[in-house]
Amino acid sequence: MARCDQGYLCDVCGDEVPEIVDSDLYLSFVIGLVEPRELLARPERHIRCNPVQAQFIVDDRFEPVVVEGVFDKRKMDAESVRTQEELLTRGWRRLQELAGQTLPFIEYPLPEVRERLAERPPASPHRTVSPP
Ligand SMILES: [Zn+2]
Repeated sequence: MARCDQGYLCDVCGDEVPEIVDSDLYLSFVIGLVEPRELLARPERHIRCNPVQAQFIVDDRFEPVVVEGVFDKRKMDAESVRTQEELLTRGWRRLQELAGQTLPFIEYPLPEVRERLAERPPASPHRTVSPP
């Protein structure tokens, strides 16, 4: 992992994101929203600085995040909220597990995400195109 000792600065509040458990970027990676090759190119953020995503984390150890306005989960379809809560909560718990470990980052994601990544051939930006 290329993360240095000082950590990265949050794109929203400007403070340091000291631990993987605070990282919205790694949370997104764990649940499969961010590709491995995007991980170092994307801006870092605190989990709580991305409330629209953080509101779906439901765990006694996580102080609930409430979003007002159009992205408020209380205004969303119950079924999709349930799906999102399930995913984000599992992802958040996975981050807590990872904190004490030294896994290669490619093994961070949830099992189904790792499976999906393994099945897919690595994306190449230089796909061969037949000449006309
Ligand atoms: Zn922040």
